[in-house]
Amino acid sequence: MGRLRQDPGTTNLRRQTPLVERIGDQRTSLRDLSEDALAERATGLSLTLANDDELVAFLALASEVSHRRLGLDPFSVQLLAAVNMLRGSVVDMATGEGKTLVGFLVAAGLARSGRRVHLLSANDYLASRDARAGRPLFSAFGLSCVAVVDGMSTAERAEAYRSDIVYTTVHQVGFDLLRDRQRTPDARQLVPELDAVVVDEIDAVLLDDAMVPLVIAGDADPVPEEASLTVLVANLDEGEDYEVDGDRRTASFTENGIVRLEKALGIDLYAREHIELLTAAHVALHARALVERDVHYIVADGQVRLINDARGRVADRQRWPDGLHAAIERKEGLEVTAQAEILDQMLVETVARQYRSITGMSGTAFEAAERLAEDLDLKTGVIATNHPCIRRDQPDRLFVTAGQRDIAAAEEVRRAHEAGQPVLVGTRSVADSERFAGLLAEHGVEAKVLNAKNDAAEAEIIAGAGQFGAVTVSTQMAGRGVDIQLGPGAAEVGGLLVLGLGRYDSARLDRQLRGRSGRQGDPGTGVFYTSLDDAVVTENVRIGYEPRAVDSDGLIGDARFPGYYDHAQRVAEGKLLQLHRTTRNYHRATDNHRQTVLGTRERILVDPQALTDYLARVWPTEPDKVAAWTEPTTRQLAIEVVLYQLDRAWTNHLNRLAATREGIHLRVLGRQNPLDEFNRIANADFQTLGIDAMAEVRHTLDQAPRDVTSLADLGLRRPSSTWTYLVTDNPFGSEADRAVAFLGRFIRGSQPTAGQLPRE
Ligand code: ADP
Repeated sequence: MGRLRQDPGTTNLRRQTPLVERIGDQRTSLRDLSEDALAERATGLSLTLANDDELVAFLALASEVSHRRLGLDPFSVQLLAAVNMLRGSVVDMATGEGKTLVGFLVAAGLARSGRRVHLLSANDYLASRDARAGRPLFSAFGLSCVAVVDGMSTAERAEAYRSDIVYTTVHQVGFDLLRDRQRTPDARQLVPELDAVVVDEIDAVLLDDAMVPLVIAGDADPVPEEASLTVLVANLDEGEDYEVDGDRRTASFTENGIVRLEKALGIDLYAREHIELLTAAHVALHARALVERDVHYIVADGQVRLINDARGRVADRQRWPDGLHAAIERKEGLEVTAQAEILDQMLVETVARQYRSITGMSGTAFEAAERLAEDLDLKTGVIATNHPCIRRDQPDRLFVTAGQRDIAAAEEVRRAHEAGQPVLVGTRSVADSERFAGLLAEHGVEAKVLNAKNDAAEAEIIAGAGQFGAVTVSTQMAGRGVDIQLGPGAAEVGGLLVLGLGRYDSARLDRQLRGRSGRQGDPGTGVFYTSLDDAVVTENVRIGYEPRAVDSDGLIGDARFPGYYDHAQRVAEGKLLQLHRTTRNYHRATDNHRQTVLGTRERILVDPQALTDYLARVWPTEPDKVAAWTEPTTRQLAIEVVLYQLDRAWTNHLNRLAATREGIHLRVLGRQNPLDEFNRIANADFQTLGIDAMAEVRHTLDQAPRDVTSLADLGLRRPSSTWTYLVTDNPFGSEADRAVAFLGRFIRGSQPTAGQLPRE
């Protein structure tokens, strides 16, 4: 236990074991109760989570209800997890240990203690499935439970959010919050104030996806001239016209490339008025040189579909920042999808922070403990498995080249397959999965491939993956619902062999892959085949020595090298962490500013006096105008105008910030710290936002004709349609990486001066 206490952000969950024993004792006395008597106790229960007696009574009742209504008797480890989560800890619980049932117990407990509860699942499918499965238990406690998923109308959503327990995803909640922020007086607020949240796969949501911006956009006019750039850039040559860094995170034009572009376009790209075109040229270059088909995205049904790197699946509703997305669509010869103007955006993490309390569970929470503590002030502990885990985790086999690695791995798969042992191979990308399956075929092994291109067949492929003799090649499947059960005879030949082909950028993801094997006491083996060609090495370290002691098949015996590999992975983790911190810092000021604007907006919507006060500041010396626009017949339109102008001002502010963020790096190379500089500019710009909005309101209303009844009469138009999407991680690497590549050349041109922002 001493060791556990030393790990930052961790806690010893076993301290609550005495409560679990008491739950077991009390449970015995409930077994003979009639249905009616049990129901009466459940609905009559009072629950304060800090009160031991009440918590024990609740979980004893919930166990009995679970037994009778769901056919599941919670294991002690599940009760221990529930007790700890109800008291605010995050639990690390291995795959297949029954986190779904734990979620039911925790959601019901929180709701019975008077909280409004959201349980965030990994996707819509799981949210619907679990809401349905848990309902018999919830209803016994008089609690309503609904899932909020795609395809529901606004009215249905608004209604669903009023349930005691809501199963949904962080994306649904985030998008609905963004929709609420655009709402007009006639629309109903969708999401009530966020209260308690239980996050399934908490590290995936709050760390891997934390910095993904959720975006709400409205229709806007496309930019035509960028199309020709794609064609021009496509004809450039690597090495001559542009250069790509060793880690393939940044690409930059050479002098030669710039000259070619300038000739073709007939302009000076570095002239101040062509800044946008120069940015577009860089975007087109990134699309060409750095973003790879079947690694970063696939093309399906005529659309670019992004692949989520951490999960190896198609990322639902995800786009790159607009210009890049369009550039890739052009590169693939696809129709460019609508250009949108970003109305507002919010990080996944910002959504999570709006809950009053957070708890969660995951099979790999423990590795994330330090981050969860640092980012969200959460404590994490480990729940022992119900049956001891007997999976054998073997040390990595490290080869010199990727080719040697693959041949040896294919040979190991073949050997296991011959004995009938089921094998799951984890690869880094769609392209890798297909290539390796091809190699296996050459070794006479037919493998099923599971990747972003065929994830519809996932349930079926996974159901078969633990069968005797099955071989499955997959991309990283971090999601839940991928519990691999062993088929008849499979345990006798060693259970599932999980073979990872190259390690991920994070040891946590490696462990997720290993965790597919050895569930609930099953036998199994986990091993990684790695090489010095693996991206995690080439992108992060330069080793600088040749390995000694290399076998004829390329296996490295040199004892120093595994350490180098581990080091490379830690560097990768560190880079990611740094990127997160930077992103968070860039969003912090904006988040605060947004709260201010939303505060004004909300008051105008709900408080009749707020409009009068606002207009009194619009016309400080003209009370008759204030009176004229606050009469019962006119005030509705006045409210709409104020909201319109506030939203407009906010959108313009965001757009200027986006431009500043790109431009800020121009100044990095000068003297200032880019973040300080960004915050200084953002603050300065925000100071004038409220004043600008008021000036616009005054202008609009002063010009309004007498008989005006709607925004349209005033020549104002809210976006006719809005849609929501995620902007994926920037594929160009960290802000700093980009800065240097992008600006080294940019700097020779014009240099916007600090504080001077482009205004329309
Ligand atoms: P996890 O999400 O932790 O990977 P699941 O919630 O999917 O695990 O549960 C794995 C399997 O274990 C499911 O088939 C579930 O029905 C079963 N299970 C969970 N809890 C119990 C229990 N207390 N008794 C019997 N089976 C259980």
